[in-house]
Amino acid sequence: MDIMALEQQFGAANYSPLPVVLSRGVGVHVWDIEGNRYLDAMSAYSAVSHGHCHPRLVKTLTEQASRLAVVSRAYYSDQLALLLEKLCHMTGFDKALPMNTGTEAVETALKAARKWAYTRKGVVQDKAEIIVCDGNFHGRTITIVGMSSEAQYKQGFGPFPPGFVHVPYDDSQALANAMTNNTAAVLLEPIQGEGGIIIPQPGYLRRCREICDHHNVLLIVDEIQTGLGRTGAFIACEHESIQPDGLILGKALGGGLLPVSMFLTNQTLMDVFTPGDHGSTFGGNPLAAAVAREALQVIEDEGLTQRANELGEYFLQQLQLTDCTYVTDIRGKGLLLGIEIDKKVRAARDVCLALMAKGLLSKETHETVVRIAPPLIITREQIDEAIMIIRSVLI
Ligand code: PLP
Repeated sequence: MDIMALEQQFGAANYSPLPVVLSRGVGVHVWDIEGNRYLDAMSAYSAVSHGHCHPRLVKTLTEQASRLAVVSRAYYSDQLALLLEKLCHMTGFDKALPMNTGTEAVETALKAARKWAYTRKGVVQDKAEIIVCDGNFHGRTITIVGMSSEAQYKQGFGPFPPGFVHVPYDDSQALANAMTNNTAAVLLEPIQGEGGIIIPQPGYLRRCREICDHHNVLLIVDEIQTGLGRTGAFIACEHESIQPDGLILGKALGGGLLPVSMFLTNQTLMDVFTPGDHGSTFGGNPLAAAVAREALQVIEDEGLTQRANELGEYFLQQLQLTDCTYVTDIRGKGLLLGIEIDKKVRAARDVCLALMAKGLLSKETHETVVRIAPPLIITREQIDEAIMIIRSVLI
């Protein structure tokens, strides 16, 4: 049976996957249906930070699944409160609102910010503005692609909700200039992942924090990709010692097993939500809550944040020693790395196909960047193996 042809026949063409059919995963490795082994340097866009099928997470998943999986928020479960408490303690926020996908948690943050603007800040009804950055990626709903600066994400999907203002990323002066009396919030990523692993200048986030404070505007940070240890800090905001007003987490929160996302904030902002304002049938279900709590515990117990910090630095240094004329930049923070390819010479996808042929899975972003974001459990020896493969493809 040709699985790829079958998927193309019955599926939508909204992705262009690399031509490999995976059927098994353990730790940093995945296997295709022919039994070939690959080192996963993508981690499902950073969702598999714990590695594939982490035994503790699989155990929690199966035990909880056989006890109680889904009850909806019409009732309390004995699992959700424990997750919310743990995550609030780990991040320093008062309250957390669970959803499933990252996109939903971003929508939650947008709704909270708008309602806060009307009910607390005194912005005139339906005039609230949320400032977003060029090059952002926050998901795929109509509202969120409406906030994108990427033509293809939007083309054919309009009209889009109003109330979003764009500023260039990593330009705090532009942010300051964009502030009006109607500004409710600024939404940004500490590092733009889908945008091509774009790392702002040191001090940018701190400056954004000051500008938001000055204008009584919420700073909401989307750490769906950068959070939970990925960049070598539990959340990337810690690199600049700032606390945002709202934090959005997802991806690795589900331990690589389930979609679990969260919007975290202080009491005043979360209190804008009253029963009936917002919700999700599956959001915060006991199965997801149990797995997410164990996923957080594994990050602590296995020191995954410190690993990302130390091994990420090593990975970056080694990659930067790679001498390749068509590599224009190699950058990264923790285990979120990007290799920028001169597309006039070679397409990033072609590099990814060559890496795949040698047993390393990655994926291009924006035609020019090869993303390297392995599970945080990766060892130094496995990094050495990855570097050997990358060098053999680039040199
Ligand atoms: N925000 C950021 C920063 C992301 O990287 C992503 C996914 O790549 C999302 C939001 C959307 O998350 P999801 O695909 O789980 O809806």
